[in-house]
Amino acid sequence: MIRLKNIEKVYRTSTIETLALNSISLEVAKGEFLSIMGPSGCGKSTLLNIMGLLDEPSKGDISVGGESIRDFSDKKIARFRNQKLGFIFQSYHLINDLPVLDNVELPLLYRNVSGDERTRLATEALQKVGLGNRMKHYPSQLSGGQKQRVAIARAIVGNPEIILADEPTGNLDSAMGNEIMEILINLNKQEGTTIVMVTHDENMAKKTSRLVRLFDGSQVL
Ligand code: ADP
Ligand code: ADP
Repeated sequence: MIRLKNIEKVYRTSTIETLALNSISLEVAKGEFLSIMGPSGCGKSTLLNIMGLLDEPSKGDISVGGESIRDFSDKKIARFRNQKLGFIFQSYHLINDLPVLDNVELPLLYRNVSGDERTRLATEALQKVGLGNRMKHYPSQLSGGQKQRVAIARAIVGNPEIILADEPTGNLDSAMGNEIMEILINLNKQEGTTIVMVTHDENMAKKTSRLVRLFDGSQVL
């Protein structure tokens, strides 16, 4: 589904150069639940952002569905990201002055989906994560675990092929973290959604189907 070949990422400022990723080659297969682990600063978020086409590598090649993204226009990349990918972040990234239902409808706004259909799909996504009874609440009225479930509903509302999750349980206690993992595992097993998750929690990583470890920008074999 996503293939990275010899990916290098250098962050440059006028005075500092940081090699964040050093020749990473990695293939994510359809239907797998991959976790990426490693100490803080080893390049996990950089790698996930590159996989999600949110950031460009300094060197190397990325292909999706067999096509190199070098050949994609910016518009095609934006469309791919919107239609095939769903993102989940450690700090939820919800819009606080919109109710839960509107937060979940957001990805559909860019896709010419009618209002009624948006509401139907967002309601269905919220029911899947067990929040059918919180649709009119605002994010500030929810617990951390509930906020992350809203973020999952927003990630799945457009029926993505791949979910990219950056420390989705990082701000949660272990009970709520386990609940979020259960939801992700179900999505992977029942709907066949491919998931790539960054975590520094061995217990969470153990529940996934494959583990990649990074150290200082390189893959640990
Ligand atoms: P992790 O997610 O594993 O904590 P990151 O991918 O965030 O690691 O960062 C990898 C390395 O790249 C770190 O050394 C970090 O300081 C550096 N880095 C990350 N983002 C930037 C940036 N925008 N500018 C400069 N350096 C960065
Ligand atoms: P948890 O124990 O999981 O952290 P909370 O104690 O934060 O959960 O919230 C318990 C319940 O109360 C949740 O279902 C949440 O929706 C509701 N709730 C929390 N804060 C508010 C609020 N400010 N207004 C309305 N409902 C709230």
